[in-house]
Amino acid sequence: MSNNIIDGKAIAAEIKKEIAAKVALMIDAEIEAPHLAAIIVGEDAASQTYVVSKEKACHDVGITSTIYRMPEKTTEKELLEMIEFLNQDPDIDGFIVQLPLPKHINADKIIEKINPDKDVDGFHPRNIGMMQLGLPTYLPATPFGIIELLKRSNVEVAGKHCVVLGRSNIVGTPISILLSRKSEYGNATVTLCHSLTQNLEEITKQADILIAAIGQPEFVKASMVKKGAVVIDVGIHRIDDSASEKGYHLVGDVDFEEVASVAGKITPVPGGVGPMTIVSLLQNTLLASKKRTRQ
Ligand code: NDP
Repeated sequence: MSNNIIDGKAIAAEIKKEIAAKVALMIDAEIEAPHLAAIIVGEDAASQTYVVSKEKACHDVGITSTIYRMPEKTTEKELLEMIEFLNQDPDIDGFIVQLPLPKHINADKIIEKINPDKDVDGFHPRNIGMMQLGLPTYLPATPFGIIELLKRSNVEVAGKHCVVLGRSNIVGTPISILLSRKSEYGNATVTLCHSLTQNLEEITKQADILIAAIGQPEFVKASMVKKGAVVIDVGIHRIDDSASEKGYHLVGDVDFEEVASVAGKITPVPGGVGPMTIVSLLQNTLLASKKRTRQ
């Protein structure tokens, strides 16, 4: 692997070992292993893949996992009842509702119903508010993973200009908050860009750290990146590819081939932010179980 690549897969494997060791200590002390549940509604192929990857990751570190599969035609009321069931179930430390949900279900209403103490995705308004205030809480998995990735790659963020492309509630907005916070791993100067931002290239070229989370395949080109910048690619897109066994290959929001030649450090897709998102969910589940056991 080229020496400017941030290997998310290897860093995630390192964190998984740390989590596995902590879970093993719990089991040695005859404390129930952490238990994560996931609800998935419908048949969306990418969501099915993500849920199975999360289950496998749980298995790898000794976290118990349960998947609740609900049909596409599930009503909002039925889903709210399922959430209430998991809110009350003392055996479940934390759970997630895999997004996106079918169009007839209001995702905001669903997220608000989750007990914030079990909201290991960190999407509940209470947890978002606590994050914003710098209070201890579950951090949303992707931003949490990006922070760990930067930290463990020895990327200094304090005082740096960080440009975030995309302002979604699950990636762009929370990562911009975390990096700009007056905190141990924050203090960056953050510019948050979106689809109405003008002169985008002028702004991205000023970035010491550029985080792309816009959902546009290979959007970021070498001409948009300052030489030596750290580039974090959050995007994941399946591109049809008859030459590949799976029938597709994955690309990010960054044109990797071009940008790798100017970036100081860069995350690949796959093997960058994706594995870090999953381990962050495991970290949050471990934290949830500690609340149960008051360790
Ligand atoms: P959303 O689609 O929710 O949001 C996209 C954001 O990008 C919006 O704020 C939008 O602006 C902005 N945007 C879109 N086009 C442009 C443009 N041309 N110039 C500037 N800004 C633009 O995205 P998500 O945050 O949910 O996901 C982003 C990508 O990351 C996707 O590819 C997704 O699959 C991937 N992803 C990967 C994860 C991982 O673990 N690796 C986890 C989560 C997501 P506006 O607000 O104005 O509409």
